[in-house]
Amino acid sequence: MEKCIFCRIAEGDIPCAALTESERVISFLDINPVNHGHALVVPKVHVESLTEALSQDLQESVLTVQKVARACVEVTGAEGFNVLQNNGRCSGQEVPHLHFHVIPRWAGDGFSLGWRQGRYKDAEMEDLRRRIAGKLRRV
Ligand code: 5GP
Ligand code: ZN
Repeated sequence: MEKCIFCRIAEGDIPCAALTESERVISFLDINPVNHGHALVVPKVHVESLTEALSQDLQESVLTVQKVARACVEVTGAEGFNVLQNNGRCSGQEVPHLHFHVIPRWAGDGFSLGWRQGRYKDAEMEDLRRRIAGKLRRV
């Protein structure tokens, strides 16, 4: 099967604007930034989704997100940042290899997540809580 673009970057087959690299995790600037300093943190082992990640890869990825966020905010002078992580095409994931976005933010920068928040009807919330909590007790 053809390797995905982030596997090829992790293996050094395709160049990237690298920020950090370890045995497990690489971080680099996004080629089409939402804002300047938009970075990606990518565990090298190919999995598509957060739910499939190896625990050690995930731990190091999250610590790398924190380090990259500190550096990107300091260097760009951002007022804040978003950490985004998409899973599945329906969520906006275009590259099917687990990655975290670190996006420097400024007030009025024009980027919006467009959240559309709803409400639960009657017992829906308690029903969902019970089913999800039950599932979590079995993991
Ligand atoms: P997704 O929509 O999958 O969460 O985000 C994928 C991100 O990867 C996009 O923001 C896109 O700009 C970035 N991207 C795709 N191909 C490349 C590439 O070859 N190099 C770099 N640096 N970023 C890429
Ligand atoms: Zn991959």
